Amino acid sequence: MLVRDGVIAEVGSGLPAPSDAEIVEGSGGTLLPGLIDAHTHTLTVAELEQALAFGVTTELDMFCVPKLLGPLRAAAASRVDIADIRSAGIGATVPSGHPTQLVEVGVYPPFPTLSHADEAAAFVSARAREGSDYLKILVEDGSTMGWGGQPRLSPEMITALVTAAHAQQLRAVAHVSTQADARHCVAAGVDGLAHLFVDQLPDAAFVRQAAAAGIFAIPTITIFEMLYSSGRRETGYVDHPRLWPYLDPAVRTALQSDWREHLSWQPPDWASAEHTKQATRLLQQASVPILAGTDVAYPRAGHGLSLHAELAALVDAGLTPTAALTAATSAPADAFGLTDRGRIEPGRQADLLLVDGDPTSEITATGEITGVWRHGHHFDRDTYQATLETTHNQ
Ligand SMILES: [Zn+2]
Repeated sequence: MLVRDGVIAEVGSGLPAPSDAEIVEGSGGTLLPGLIDAHTHTLTVAELEQALAFGVTTELDMFCVPKLLGPLRAAAASRVDIADIRSAGIGATVPSGHPTQLVEVGVYPPFPTLSHADEAAAFVSARAREGSDYLKILVEDGSTMGWGGQPRLSPEMITALVTAAHAQQLRAVAHVSTQADARHCVAAGVDGLAHLFVDQLPDAAFVRQAAAAGIFAIPTITIFEMLYSSGRRETGYVDHPRLWPYLDPAVRTALQSDWREHLSWQPPDWASAEHTKQATRLLQQASVPILAGTDVAYPRAGHGLSLHAELAALVDAGLTPTAALTAATSAPADAFGLTDRGRIEPGRQADLLLVDGDPTSEITATGEITGVWRHGHHFDRDTYQATLETTHNQ
């Protein structure tokens, strides 16, 4: 592969290298498109830098406020040593609906909500003016978080929001955690689901409905395993020499704490990540595009690292390693209209991840990182790692 000016110029065997070309030897390894995390919550430039250190070249943020998002967008547009970002900006919810509880704990400043379907067009126009790349719709009554009864968008409001988003040429992506809400959202015409559900096993009618509607799905298995099942998959990487040391030390500490002890709620015993995995497997079999997303937010997961965990989780759910890799590269690029990345082909950005071994046969090889490039610029992982330790020890 020949890269010129940050763009893939040629792909093939026996390509002549220009005399001034820098040669990167990749024998015994696999070159992948830079990974795309299709569900993040990104608050700082440092998180985008950490993501890139793990080969995640693009993060698709699923809720942010303009005050926090502006600096992230500016940094990602002007620097090639951090991951790129797209964002939903402010998601659509009702007053006191999910995630307004995060205002009370200080994560976000107060943000606009809507109370009636006839406010949908104005709400979406405001998001479009703020630069939202897609519309996030949050449908959540808190039942899977053990309380339930939280006010949420009605089916009529969901439909109005989807219609308004499509009128603005924005995709509409829905947060759900139950199969019933997933059905409502698919019926309302959403383009994708930002989570699959945890409340019950998928039924055949839902799978048929999703396939017929042409949606994509971002299962976010890893975060649901942490909340509802076996615990935190990321802690399996503590001894991984090419992954664990590249986490911010504060993130390492957070990932080794028992997050569930800090939860202000108790997961109901009927909710399970096994439901999510089964839905993932059946949707994949029905040719619904599956996208790898982590729902990463400090301190519950790690930018970059958690996507490698999610790839392994997708394989555990029944995807082939190649299908899992597709879920983190060309599938999210296609689903979100990112036509300049996500594949190794001429004309696309040289966002690249070089690993030892063959992740199409053993998915854990994605963690054997030997090189990362964004827009053709090599990211120096060693310097990054050294800086992390220095900064932390000051
Ligand atoms: Zn989320």
